[in-house]
Amino acid sequence: MKPSLLPYLRCPACASELALTTEQSEGAEIMEGQLVCVLSGHRFPVRRGVPRLLSDALSREQEKTASAFGWQTSVPRWKPPFAISAGCPTRT
Ligand SMILES: [Zn+2]
Repeated sequence: MKPSLLPYLRCPACASELALTTEQSEGAEIMEGQLVCVLSGHRFPVRRGVPRLLSDALSREQEKTASAFGWQTSVPRWKPPFAISAGCPTRT
């Protein structure tokens, strides 16, 4: 991410400004670092140039699990339009 992006970013937990600490940069691009909330002290990593602004309560893995679980439960169960019984069908 570019440091010029910083004024537009806010802490997802409390909407305060973030401070940027740089661990590795390529030219003007911050590749590895941390965004630290100036008010709550929440920390958000910058990994491979991408700021990861997820709150502590919802890590990347939890989000994956939640979305997968949500997909499973949102698919309606298939119900046959007729009764299935064991054996051969009988004429009525
Ligand atoms: Zn905060």
